[in-house]
Amino acid sequence: MVVPKVAVCPICGKKTYMRIEDGGYLKEYPVRFNCINCRALIKGTYNISLPGQKGLILYNAKVEECDVDANSERILNADYVVEISGELPCAKVKAFDGKIIKTTPFINATDKIDMMDRINRLSYFVKNMEEWKAWRSIAFQLLNEGSTDYVPEALKHMMGEYSYKCDNYLKALHCLQEVVQEETKHLFYPESEDDIIAGLIADLAVIDRDKLHQFVDDKGGTDTLVSDYRKVIEIFSTFMNIYPNILPAETYMRYKTPEPLLGIATCSFEDLKSFYQDAYESLLSLLYIPVCMDNILMRSDYTSFDSAITGFVNDPGFRGARGSDYAKYVGMDNGKKADLINNAEPIQKTLRIPVNKDLRNGIGHNNYKYDGLTQTITTFDYRRRNRIKMQTSLMDVALDCLGLARAAVVFGEILLFILRQELRADNMHSAIHPRFYKKVGQNDRCPCGSGLKYKKCCRNDIGEMKPIK
Ligand SMILES: [Zn+2]
Ligand SMILES: [Zn+2]
Repeated sequence: MVVPKVAVCPICGKKTYMRIEDGGYLKEYPVRFNCINCRALIKGTYNISLPGQKGLILYNAKVEECDVDANSERILNADYVVEISGELPCAKVKAFDGKIIKTTPFINATDKIDMMDRINRLSYFVKNMEEWKAWRSIAFQLLNEGSTDYVPEALKHMMGEYSYKCDNYLKALHCLQEVVQEETKHLFYPESEDDIIAGLIADLAVIDRDKLHQFVDDKGGTDTLVSDYRKVIEIFSTFMNIYPNILPAETYMRYKTPEPLLGIATCSFEDLKSFYQDAYESLLSLLYIPVCMDNILMRSDYTSFDSAITGFVNDPGFRGARGSDYAKYVGMDNGKKADLINNAEPIQKTLRIPVNKDLRNGIGHNNYKYDGLTQTITTFDYRRRNRIKMQTSLMDVALDCLGLARAAVVFGEILLFILRQELRADNMHSAIHPRFYKKVGQNDRCPCGSGLKYKKCCRNDIGEMKPIK
């Protein structure tokens, strides 16, 4: 169903006819669009459960009812028209000829995506977001601020749908990671999150434990792994703040055919740019970890890089850190490390970090323009500010934000895998989520990646878990 309303621009007074989707799944969503005349960004939320005003609250613009002339079927109080949906891509704001539009724009989506999948995905999103806001996020805030003592309490000693007595901090981190997996399940497409994680752990399982230990030792021990994991958790927590703003991009990712003219009515560039920049920097600062895992897996030494990296750091023209290849690589700037990601190597290929150096630099140096009407971001050359460096759409940036959050989940899994191997020596242990053990036999290799038989590894932990309902 489409709710018609008119927004009055607070700057120039021009009026925009809003065609708002009032669906049954999302209870609340953000609203963003620009006034065509003066470009003011109009912001608000739509809340379907709010009685009276039919749920629309604009923070910075007055709302009017449509003034419809019954004879001519024209809307008399509107200059522009925009579509607004919390979970679907929308037509961008454009000039309005006054003729009332009777058909709903959102019915078109039925041909573009699988409807059952859409309904399941949205009810899952709504339930998880409510739980996130109500209590789960507290555990992440605690870890973020450096305390692990109350994390198990905050997560109610639960691993997904199971009870799990968290008597060590490794178990608490695994319960946190389980929340991360649940919240981000639909960012993985077309392959499922479970398949990607199971494949990643299977690849890591064959790693030489002594060489892995040497890497961790040289890098500063398990404490540094925990602080790296906190970086990943920070990315995830900030992502949860913008997730409702980019839900239409998650839907668009599933469109059977691309529709590049469609826009997004739940965010503006300002909602996304800090997350993009911070997540990009954090992930690339941790990139050496998966690269070193590949070094051990492929060349049995964490300091043995692939030929592209070795060639680069040993080129006579190389101007960077001095010393070993490892020292030179770690000292490189993040952008260069991004250029040298090798998707032919087993661990790096699972990351799929959406890197756009020019966008990152445009944001970092405040050297960009955003056009809210076309929803286009343009960045400029650092030295010659009139020279265009790159152009991209708001939808593509939203898709990249989904990709950065997805990559953070994979980084989290890699860090927890390493922690499990290292803490085993201290007799500290944790299972991964029970669903990964469903098909495993007593004598099979354990799904946690330890390399041990299931009966000698996670069986006891899994046996202790009980379904909560
Ligand atoms: Zn205006
Ligand atoms: Zn195990």
